[in-house]
Amino acid sequence: MTVEPKISKSQYIKGLQCPKALWYYRHRKDLAPEIDPATQARFDTGHEIGELAKQYFEGGVEVTNDYRDIKGAIAATEQFVKDGHSVIYEATAMHPVDGSYSRIDILKRVEETDEWDMIEVKSSTSVKDYHLDDMALQYHAFYNAGYKIGCCFMMVIDNSYIRDGDIGPRQLFRLEDISDFVFSKQGEVEQVAGQLGYVLDRKDEPQIKIGSRCFSPFECDYRHHCWKNVPEVSVYDFFSKDKAEEIADKHGYELTKLPEDLRPSGKKSADLESYINNEIIIDATKIRIFLGELAWPLYFLDYETVGAAVPQFDSTKPYQQVTFQFSLHIEPEPGAELIHHEFLHKERSDPRTPFTEKLVELCGEDGSIIAYNKSFEVTCNTKLAEYLPEYGEQLEAINARMVDLLVPFRSRWLYHPSQLSSASIKAVLPAFTDQSYSELNISGGEDASQLYSDFLTGKLPKEEHGALWNNLSEYCKLDTYAMKVLLDVLHEKCGEQ
Ligand code: SF4
Repeated sequence: MTVEPKISKSQYIKGLQCPKALWYYRHRKDLAPEIDPATQARFDTGHEIGELAKQYFEGGVEVTNDYRDIKGAIAATEQFVKDGHSVIYEATAMHPVDGSYSRIDILKRVEETDEWDMIEVKSSTSVKDYHLDDMALQYHAFYNAGYKIGCCFMMVIDNSYIRDGDIGPRQLFRLEDISDFVFSKQGEVEQVAGQLGYVLDRKDEPQIKIGSRCFSPFECDYRHHCWKNVPEVSVYDFFSKDKAEEIADKHGYELTKLPEDLRPSGKKSADLESYINNEIIIDATKIRIFLGELAWPLYFLDYETVGAAVPQFDSTKPYQQVTFQFSLHIEPEPGAELIHHEFLHKERSDPRTPFTEKLVELCGEDGSIIAYNKSFEVTCNTKLAEYLPEYGEQLEAINARMVDLLVPFRSRWLYHPSQLSSASIKAVLPAFTDQSYSELNISGGEDASQLYSDFLTGKLPKEEHGALWNNLSEYCKLDTYAMKVLLDVLHEKCGEQ
């Protein structure tokens, strides 16, 4: 009987997380979510990294068959082997019985032997647990297809690499030998690959309960379907996923039905109390102390950054956050009209010097500089000072003046039940005001970063640049305006105007 290709490595990982997710993937295409920009960005990064990895192992031949043409890819790989090639990109093999197949990024002959090393490329800076499963399945396919395998390597980004001129693939990547893990997993793979094959052949969907598995190692694509009967706010909002599953199994999802002895402790306890009783928490004394420490004029400051796996600028590392935009609202004295400034680097050059020049010029020397989660801005300034030591003193002085507006909200000096245990500005702003980020074209820092990255790499068409600058300005401006509004809320709630 001819065996057909059945399970790829990504389907295997999906099936390991949840056989029902694998079954949906194959049999319920109607439930598949659309590819969102973040997922597309991950694919694009993977492609870019893959191309650089080929330069690490130069001189190879590539299997170029369409991703659906597994049999063609297997035949092309076998032909390359016969022809004596020693580096094959996208080499493909299939287990002759269970139909699991692998398209390994790089298959490299061990010099002067008939053995091959398998190399899988990832854009992360370390090897994750699911990478081991991924490679274990690939080894299972190649080994059982008759290939003699020497070692299995994970090729990940070396985060100690500092760019200096053109990207050096030999420095950007590091190889980690995971052969021992892969070999030790073969018993499990043999069994699971068979079981998943059986799941795929079933006509009816597997009966699997929702639970913590729906979040690990990834949030499942089918939550919108499987979780439709779970209340919008449930035990999963107040407990760890494992604990929530345990509680839901015994007592259901509703927070109002949670037995007294299972109530969480610490901040979570106050959050839950607030939610159940629909009551705002206020510690006016602590808020007053916080407000009393502010010095005028007030500066409300927020940064946007970009940080890619492949560093864009000299003297930056993989994933280093590079500041390209800031918004600054200044309140010169109590009750005075707000003055707004912004910096947005609209060129493809390194933004750090003009960013710093403008920042230092606008921040003056006196007054509190208010940020929301200031550790981010402080870290960015420290990095800028390392790069531009001539501005070191001024940047250090800015850091010394920073005040964190997150503190009163994170500490529950002011807490609204609709925050659901989150103190992020996206949760706090709509909880206490009629403003939110939902109307903006960019509604999160990740989107801002991704779109700016698309501009830097030339992926964003020129005719869309104008809209990008407007959307980035609107987004960052709301961040600092929101801080001013939330500061007013603190004044109002503690009875001080
Ligand atoms: S949402 Fe949960 S139960 Fe449903 S398919 Fe995904 S992992 Fe499985």
